[in-house]
Amino acid sequence: MDKFEGFHYTIEKAGTRVLLDNAVVYLEVGVDKEVDVNSHTLFIGKVVESEMINDGEPMTYAFYHEVRRGTTPRSAPTYSKLEEVRKIVKYRCKVCGYIYDSEKGDPDSGVKPSTSFEDIPDSWVCPICGVSKDQFERIE
Ligand code: FE
Repeated sequence: MDKFEGFHYTIEKAGTRVLLDNAVVYLEVGVDKEVDVNSHTLFIGKVVESEMINDGEPMTYAFYHEVRRGTTPRSAPTYSKLEEVRKIVKYRCKVCGYIYDSEKGDPDSGVKPSTSFEDIPDSWVCPICGVSKDQFERIE
């Protein structure tokens, strides 16, 4: 069967078929080595060709976690601090009650979404009353 039937693609120099639908970029890699790593085969090679197909937003592993709410077991090699950020989501200002939500961050003060409270710079202050980080308490 032709797995590419019904899809739009081009055929590049080395014969690689490049899917054009739902892709932002492609990389064509010449394989130098194959390594058996038990559950997978790791291919090592050099990029020989690449091109941006369109200027859309790529779906990354971060997108999977942040938007699709995907999770990764703690034992997995791809487990990241994003998992921790999702579990410890909120801190409350003991002075004014403002709640810091790590998923939202505090973009008005330069704190990007998915920033854990611990990773906010010490110079950050409560956006409502202006007290420092040590005036916040963790809430679940
Ligand atoms: Fe406050």
